[in-house]
Amino acid sequence: MSWPPLREELKGIEPYGAPQLDVPVQLNVNENPYGPSPECVADIARAVSEAATTLNRYPDREFTELRAALAAYLGHGVTPEQVWAANGSNEVMLQLLQAFGGPGRVALSFAPTYSMYPEYARDSLTEWVAGRRETDFSLDLDHAHDLVKEQQPSVVLLPSPNNPTGTALPFDAIATLCEAAGDGLVVIDEAYGEFRREGVRSAIELLPEHRNLVVTRTMSKAFAAAGLRLGYLAADPAICDAIRVVRLPYHLSAVTQATALAALRHAPELLGKVDELRAERDATVDWLRAQGLAVADSDANFALFGTFEDRHAVWQGLLDRGVLIRETGPDGWLRVSIGTADEMMAFKKALTEVLR
Ligand SMILES: *Cc1c(COP(=O)(O)O)cnc(C)c1O
Repeated sequence: MSWPPLREELKGIEPYGAPQLDVPVQLNVNENPYGPSPECVADIARAVSEAATTLNRYPDREFTELRAALAAYLGHGVTPEQVWAANGSNEVMLQLLQAFGGPGRVALSFAPTYSMYPEYARDSLTEWVAGRRETDFSLDLDHAHDLVKEQQPSVVLLPSPNNPTGTALPFDAIATLCEAAGDGLVVIDEAYGEFRREGVRSAIELLPEHRNLVVTRTMSKAFAAAGLRLGYLAADPAICDAIRVVRLPYHLSAVTQATALAALRHAPELLGKVDELRAERDATVDWLRAQGLAVADSDANFALFGTFEDRHAVWQGLLDRGVLIRETGPDGWLRVSIGTADEMMAFKKALTEVLR
């Protein structure tokens, strides 16, 4: 055996993650460009200070207060028993695979999609199957339905809006897939849900009708708290109960719980720039199209555009001009996160120069 004695299938694999470079314009990981107000920062500091007085004790393992606050935030009649949270929705989804995937079971999605999904499958020894999307990145519902029937996955992972394409699922598709999946879980990953365009509905509305439907959300994107590491789901209470078997003891620290609760008290402020970002997104998509580029329709806070014979050269050209975007998605495409108006101006200027 070679050193270190790593699992065979992990040998030579690069860890997931975009380059974290200190450049003036960072548009690569879909963060909200607006930081919290001084009032919000002060409230978080007070809450963490209070939590620190009992740091010798383990935190509330069931994060009761936070579950109630997240349920209230979600609305639609979601109860605290229907809510589960962890350190980012990435951890929530890994826990789902640990509880509901495993050897002999299948996790299914439709490519191109979030590149972390196959990693949860690998790490939980679940077989990974990826169907395809149409050339405009929408879901071919007949193909999706048939593949679910054929593979009988124990977990279907579907982001809406999808990353890296920005594509939202039609509302009807969710019910169709929940029915096709039988007792398998259908996880609708709404990490970018708050950025949906007018009229695009959330899967949360369908929870009362499908006990196998799971909707995941995060405070990392629209909620402007990527540094907090707090993601959550809403689902049948039996699903939340099952996850408790695989979660690590006291996985949500007292500091995380206090910070998340304080941040939720400032929800209107933290979400206050969402409309502006949606408008900036639509303007960016229009601008890119006006440059003669292909752009995927986006319901998220990013746009996937292309296609380039040498996308790396375009990415590098932008970086040389102080603008960091993401080299991801199908060959030839690049993804830009939506930043402030100034940041988007810098992006447009740099891209114009690079393409000249
Ligand atoms: C960013 C993102 C998440 C959220 O990640 P966190 O762990 O909550 O920060 C989940 N799903 C998709 C598709 C994402 O792009």
